Amino acid sequence: MPQLSNRVKTFTDSVIRRMTRISDEYNAINLSQGFPDFDPPKEILDKLAEVAYKGPHQYSVTFGADNLREALARKQSKAINRQIDSQKEIVVTCGGTEAMMCTMMTICNPGDKVLVFSPFYENYGADAILSGAEPIYIPLVPPDYHFDINLVEKGFKDGAKAIIICNPSNPCGKVFTREELEAIGRLVLKYDVYAVTDEVYEHLVYEPYKHTYMSSLPDMYEHTITCNSLSKTFSITGWRLGYIIAPEEVIDGAKKVHDFLTVGAAAPLQEAAVIGLNFPETYYDGLKKLYTEKRDYFLAGLDRIGLEHNIPQGTYFVLLDIQQFLNLPQFSGYTDLMFCEWMIKEIGVAAVPGSSFFKEDVNNFIRLHFAREKSTLDKALARLEKLKL
Ligand code: GLN
Repeated sequence: MPQLSNRVKTFTDSVIRRMTRISDEYNAINLSQGFPDFDPPKEILDKLAEVAYKGPHQYSVTFGADNLREALARKQSKAINRQIDSQKEIVVTCGGTEAMMCTMMTICNPGDKVLVFSPFYENYGADAILSGAEPIYIPLVPPDYHFDINLVEKGFKDGAKAIIICNPSNPCGKVFTREELEAIGRLVLKYDVYAVTDEVYEHLVYEPYKHTYMSSLPDMYEHTITCNSLSKTFSITGWRLGYIIAPEEVIDGAKKVHDFLTVGAAAPLQEAAVIGLNFPETYYDGLKKLYTEKRDYFLAGLDRIGLEHNIPQGTYFVLLDIQQFLNLPQFSGYTDLMFCEWMIKEIGVAAVPGSSFFKEDVNNFIRLHFAREKSTLDKALARLEKLKL
């Protein structure tokens, strides 16, 4: 057999998505890969039904249907209090995943260094490899997931070209404070580099925490590349609709990469999603309320069972500390991955091993998500009850 590229030998498939496949195989309740088990808003579904007959069914404009980009520009202009040009400063991608990959291919030359907070969403590792960049990891230290700003400065001093900030942060649920973002922003300006943000959980932020858009901070718009997606906001993870918002020069590059990577996101789905972006502000309040209830309900259930966990400030993920189990003789020699596999088979609940998010040698966390109907959360909690020591 002719050899495959060296590139594909340097990373594995996604552990998050692998856990979904194993979960399905054993018919477990899947709390691993984060996606809701409830429907998108009815108005969006009604529009999708209409679009099925009225179209469009052919390619949209490569960079995103005009009306979708206009709707995105309207929403984000309001959020950051700056007029965004829908033609020049936005490109619609196939999910947040392409937005991030496309961004990395647009800004990185092989060998360029990029700062990444750890724990990190596992795609960033593969994004770096595929774009030839070298990730430099900066620890977010549990239990409060703080970081040392001096390490950020050191990274830039050593030549890093960008910093990736997942805010709110998958998997640890950290919501970066305005002060933290300002401190990072000052360094981004000082070293004349890029802040690349992944803000797909922007609307899943729990009181009293607030989401701050990096691009809204003084002078930061010109240095920020915002990656986002409609997946979580409208419960449409399978639609694969994402976008990048950045200054024109960056978007010019990203448009070219996107054009040859995927040509464009699905035209009928873009058309239907516009409805969601025109929802009033109360939609986002409702979403926050819904997820706050789910978070509180699920965490209270974990507490009743006696499972140790963090309290996410945002996202729909919670990290469980499984050290108390790993200390038991029957789990001697177990990795967190082995524990997750055991949990799928014996408990019937799927989680993601924390080691797929941490660069450091951390083996005592597993990630669960609570984007589930209350009845599903009840079933999952009843099964997790069997973990009670
Ligand atoms: N962000 C989600 C997670 O971490 C899944 C995203 C994906 O699989 N594309 O589970």
